[in-house]
Amino acid sequence: MRGDARPGTERPDSARAISVTELFTIGIGPSSSHTVGPMRAACDFAERVTAQGDVAGVQCDLYGSLALTGHGHRTDIAILLGLAGERPETVDPERIDGLVAAIRSRGTILLAGQAETAFAEAGDLIFHRREFLPGHANGMRFTARFADGTSEQAIYYSIGGGAILREGEPAPRVNFALPLPFSSGAELLAQGAATGKSFGEIVEANEQAWRPAAETEGFLDAVREAMLACVARGCRTEGILPGGLKVRRRAKDLHETLMARGPRSDPSAVFEWVSLWALAVNEENAAGGRVVTAPTNGAAGVLPAVLKYYEVFTATPTPAGSRLLLTTAAAIGFLYKKRASISAAEMGCQGEVGVACSMAAAGLAAALGATNSQIENAAEIGMEHNLGLTCDPIGGLVQIPCIERNTMGAIKAINAAYLALRGDGQHIVSLDAVIETMRQTGNDMRSKYKETSLGGLAVNVVEC
Ligand code: SF4
Repeated sequence: MRGDARPGTERPDSARAISVTELFTIGIGPSSSHTVGPMRAACDFAERVTAQGDVAGVQCDLYGSLALTGHGHRTDIAILLGLAGERPETVDPERIDGLVAAIRSRGTILLAGQAETAFAEAGDLIFHRREFLPGHANGMRFTARFADGTSEQAIYYSIGGGAILREGEPAPRVNFALPLPFSSGAELLAQGAATGKSFGEIVEANEQAWRPAAETEGFLDAVREAMLACVARGCRTEGILPGGLKVRRRAKDLHETLMARGPRSDPSAVFEWVSLWALAVNEENAAGGRVVTAPTNGAAGVLPAVLKYYEVFTATPTPAGSRLLLTTAAAIGFLYKKRASISAAEMGCQGEVGVACSMAAAGLAAALGATNSQIENAAEIGMEHNLGLTCDPIGGLVQIPCIERNTMGAIKAINAAYLALRGDGQHIVSLDAVIETMRQTGNDMRSKYKETSLGGLAVNVVEC
């Protein structure tokens, strides 16, 4: 395959303004880049072509990582749903199986929810496992055939965290300057020193360029509620996860065990509860349930588990503290998006669970009263010990190692926060240095370890 010949990840547009609403999106599992992004791309294409004329048929070609792990990541289902006009934010997870079964049995699709259009999955959804498109490892080509004999084609890339790019169109930008812009950890620290604001407060100030503060507060509360609802659903749901690996959901049994034992009965209680909360989210994600990308679906369990830790196990949690945890985590997530990538197809799992760990470490440190230097240190520690982490999901499913890996990310984040809190903020490796190291390590990593399921655990564990 040509994967190792692909160019590395250049520094993205670091001046681009990113909002918390872009980083934290409420969608469906199991993958932000392989499920949420393709669904958005398919929906966008379907809406555009139905607006242009009478569509007689559509086709989708998947390339690179999307083709290699698309079945395990439910990319096929995402494309069908997106073409039918469904969006990850609003589709009812309970209705997905029925919608997909209807498309498959009819051989047609209600394109953009408007026009019945020929679509035979066997010939119209094609996985090109040996080909990569030049722009990104997650490439899609859509073709619409119009009734008048003309056609329209478009290439989309799913660039991580559910974000998409349509080839030939610029990346989304804002036309206004943020009041407190930052593109690096150093700039973030400088903004804090100049204004007296914490990282989270800097994010809050910038969000006012998009919407009033009360709306951002409402959004953050909705994100928190969606995260906690996902934890709760995961803790009460049992069964076997889909995909054929026969992975049994563990969170419900573990929840019952811990409840029976009492919340603080044992020195291991904190570890076990935090692990439970991460397991619960990632089992929901693997089952295609409703999750919050934080910053991706595969790593969606880390931040909710650390948030729950803050709210359950620390001395004086407050709603404002939970919001600060999220805005601070967002500040750190922005830096990874601006200076490297949160796409596992580019960075391996260091770009997913590693970034989530770094974000959560910073968020927890902030909520516990850390200085900006300590927060930056916590974020740095959270990534430093995830550098080189590969992505090698067995069977292309976001299950093994992904579900347990989120428990490790959450525990590591808590440890990183306390290591930073017990220091004075002085440290040798800066956050910027560790982000750049992650980017370079991701570029050096062979493509078989970057969400292709062609290496690592994916080839050393026999599927049964
Ligand atoms: S190994 Fe990590 S990056 Fe890869 S799919 Fe699993 S959680 Fe995502």
